[in-house]
Amino acid sequence: MQQIPSFDGHNDALLRLFLSTSSTPEADFLNGTNEGHLDLPRAKKGGMIGGLFALYSPSSSNLSFDKMKGNYDLPLPPALHMDTARQSIVAMASMMLRIAKMSNGAVEICRTTGEIAAATRKSALAAVLHIEGAECIDPDLRFLDVLYESGIRSVGPLWSRPNIFGHGAPMRFPGSPDSGPGLSELGKTLVRRCNEFRIMIDVSHLTEAGFWDVAKVSHAPLVATHSNVHSICPVPRNLTDGQLDAIKDTGGLVGLNFATCFLRRDGQMDADTSLEIMVEHLDAMLERLGEDHVALGSDFDGAIIPQRIGSVADLQLLFIALQKRGYSNDLLHKIGSRNWLNTLASTIG
Ligand code: ZN
Repeated sequence: MQQIPSFDGHNDALLRLFLSTSSTPEADFLNGTNEGHLDLPRAKKGGMIGGLFALYSPSSSNLSFDKMKGNYDLPLPPALHMDTARQSIVAMASMMLRIAKMSNGAVEICRTTGEIAAATRKSALAAVLHIEGAECIDPDLRFLDVLYESGIRSVGPLWSRPNIFGHGAPMRFPGSPDSGPGLSELGKTLVRRCNEFRIMIDVSHLTEAGFWDVAKVSHAPLVATHSNVHSICPVPRNLTDGQLDAIKDTGGLVGLNFATCFLRRDGQMDADTSLEIMVEHLDAMLERLGEDHVALGSDFDGAIIPQRIGSVADLQLLFIALQKRGYSNDLLHKIGSRNWLNTLASTIG
């Protein structure tokens, strides 16, 4: 089988680099290491042409995967102060800018689908910058202007914690997405401003109430960059049939999250998870959303993923599994990258 190019809806490579003790995190990304899931050499090997790179401000105590055992219900981490959030966001944005600068054209920060296409023609890795949790943005939304000019083209108003824009979905198993309040009035204003800027809004990590708030307020297609199917894995981070239908109705998209806690029927973070369950989620998404609205949102470097896909270098194994399942070459290309590129064209332009 020929390699299927992939454009990935979510990775936390910049968080991994930010938290690493290396004095040369940018060079580590460009030259490659065996740390984590994603760097430039492994992206090339696995056929990744680009993706959304998240800028995320970690909570003071990191999410503990050890606590996601059996039935679990982790309390939402406390709200993060804007200044604290800004420090990590600026550091991660700077890392990406330096990576692009040091890469001699091998990595490009892209602001439009035209720029992504141009980067792909040159075989450069196309990075679209995403904010995961908008704690760094002030109530007057002035920082949004700065973020936009810095290249940010996607914003998830919430991570799984509260902020001035609303409440995020908790890490809980089992659990419904109907897990708390939605967007605040300020959160709705943020959505409207993002529409004006043509910044894509990501509904992953929102509560169900927040999801419907975005659906009501936003003029753009609904996009869940890294979420799965609730009827298979019942956690608040996954999407109900009603949510999937709403995403389809707006011409939006869902990116398959590889985190095993959002894939497995038992909701556990356990690398001993077969690729079969990823195929099942994609089957269910295709049935509900159709061929043009399903894509990938790996969560590389942000989660425990099935061990057969040890890193992005092994991503083709997923496409091979899908081919065995009977997916056509055309469908593999849609899931791999075309659907993301079409959705970005209709959101960021
Ligand atoms: Zn996430």
